[in-house]
Amino acid sequence: MMETPRRRPLIAGNWKMYKTAAQARDYINQLKTMVSSRTRVDVALAPPFPAIEAAVRAAADSPLVIAAQNVFWEEEGAYTGEVSAAMLNDLGVELVIIGHSERRQYFGETDETVNRRIKAAVANGLRPIVCIGETLDQREAGLTFSVLATQIKDGLAGMDPKAAEQLILAYEPIWAIGTGRTATPETAQEAHQFIRNQLTGLFDKKLANAIRILYGGSVKPENTADLLAQTDVDGALVGGASLKVDAFYEIVDIGCRVTA
Ligand code: PEP
Repeated sequence: MMETPRRRPLIAGNWKMYKTAAQARDYINQLKTMVSSRTRVDVALAPPFPAIEAAVRAAADSPLVIAAQNVFWEEEGAYTGEVSAAMLNDLGVELVIIGHSERRQYFGETDETVNRRIKAAVANGLRPIVCIGETLDQREAGLTFSVLATQIKDGLAGMDPKAAEQLILAYEPIWAIGTGRTATPETAQEAHQFIRNQLTGLFDKKLANAIRILYGGSVKPENTADLLAQTDVDGALVGGASLKVDAFYEIVDIGCRVTA
């Protein structure tokens, strides 16, 4: 039987509302000297909007790619405070985090708005990193899989396979984000496998096998190897530990070794 080729891992740092343009530039200039151009993993950073341009410039001529943390679905118009996918593409952004639990929790993000953002991103040449995950209450009530199934079904509704090829998913159990409490590798693998099965149902096996599913939730150098060793864990979305360049590089470096 032919083995499925291993998906190229992605280690993405989500800086949330941290770092000015100057701080982003310094960080990326440092990271660039550490990450080899022959790295075995893709490496991305998501600065806040005002630091994106400086980040893109600093990352030019390096393997680092820049992501945004959100995007609005309309092309342009009277939408004060919003940023379109075309504007991000124009800046040199390649990826965009969509539906992060903090957006769902504090800014009224729903699976329906996630769906609109995903479609706008793909239509404008951005690859979405779509975040899904359950709360602690939902996990304890045995609802994890039904929550994930709904987020996938509604969040990815109406996507054609061509667009779906651009997708990256991130399983981010909300109880593990910023809490220091990480999912065990087995818990992560179980959720990732479930997500991949859902993607198979929605699209087909070949496409589902090609879509990367990142794990996010208190990833740090100490737990990276065990998480990335899981069959269906194709990288990490890293919040807190991505703020310090040394810790983030250590995660990237471990990612390269685990997948060697
Ligand atoms: C995140 O914000 O996507 C995240 C996973 O945060 P942390 O690593 O700090 O838990």
